[in-house]
Amino acid sequence: MFTPERLVLARKRRRMTLAALAQAAGVSAQSINAFEKHRKPPAAETLSSLARALDYPVSFFQAAPAPAILRGAVSFRAPSKMSAVERDSALCAGSIAATINSWLEDRFDLPRPNVPSYTYPDVTPEQAAEQLRAHWGLGEAPAPNMVHLLEANGVRLFSLPPDCLEIDAFSTTKKGTPYVFLNTRKTAERGRFDVAHELGHLVLHNDHREPYGPDPEAEANAFASAFLMPKAGILAQQLHNASTERILQAKRRWDVSAMALTYRLFRMQLLSEWRFNQANKHLAQLGYRTGEPGSKVSRESSQLLSKVFDALRSEGLTTADIAAEVHVHPDELTHYVFGLAPAQVKGGGHTTPPARPGLHLVS
Ligand SMILES: [Zn+2]
Repeated sequence: MFTPERLVLARKRRRMTLAALAQAAGVSAQSINAFEKHRKPPAAETLSSLARALDYPVSFFQAAPAPAILRGAVSFRAPSKMSAVERDSALCAGSIAATINSWLEDRFDLPRPNVPSYTYPDVTPEQAAEQLRAHWGLGEAPAPNMVHLLEANGVRLFSLPPDCLEIDAFSTTKKGTPYVFLNTRKTAERGRFDVAHELGHLVLHNDHREPYGPDPEAEANAFASAFLMPKAGILAQQLHNASTERILQAKRRWDVSAMALTYRLFRMQLLSEWRFNQANKHLAQLGYRTGEPGSKVSRESSQLLSKVFDALRSEGLTTADIAAEVHVHPDELTHYVFGLAPAQVKGGGHTTPPARPGLHLVS
């Protein structure tokens, strides 16, 4: 048994050309091409060499094809900074995470999607953020943990592996399930903004239909800004012509970056252009361009995966067992799931699989 699509997936995930894989595996490029094009399957020994060179278990290449995440279905920020090879590798990481999700969905009743779509330009990003806040019952209060909030509303969130961190984050909808893939290297505040930005794509650019609006990235940023810092909530804080000190104090209310709040105030015409430029300069001097000095906000992580792995651990399943089931090595599994997979201790005899327990998620 051999699945050609999975050979292509693994090779692109590892950013290898046919020639590079040929050299690493000691197999001719012509043969690899024939395997990928469904012309012939590799012999068992050849498949072992390919698996070793690509750092996947042999079973990876024998499982059903993974759900493909297509280039046109994803909106990347600053795509010019990213090579096609890097982008394809990240999309393949998304495909593999989606196979992990399928495995979990077979075992647990996970929250159903509750993410409406608002069509641009009928609804502006600001209006979409207000309507979604109302739909989710958030009012004007600061947004809670964004990862938990999305998970409770049926979005599946996974972390991008360390070799994909030139990408901020991306999202897509696959067979009706919305996915967000997150870069976990950024500050907690910027991580929250990334989740809100991807949420903007999910509600404004549903199924990432092309053509997008005139500038999908700006629309997603405007949505994120309005979702995290609702207009009425900001106005109630009396931030007109706010000083840098006042901005630094106020940002803690919404758990946003100082720069994001400053920009929001400028766009709401609460800061003049002069004050905005002054504040930006001052914040940059204080180190707020790339970080949030002295921040007490902790990096958000998955609640859903944590609960799922707790349940699996209590049945005696280890990370190695789960990794074997989803056909990746244990350390790769850990990279997709915010490092939350159960500890590697053999917990003794496992029993029968669970009867699809429902998960209760609180946002
Ligand atoms: Zn984007």
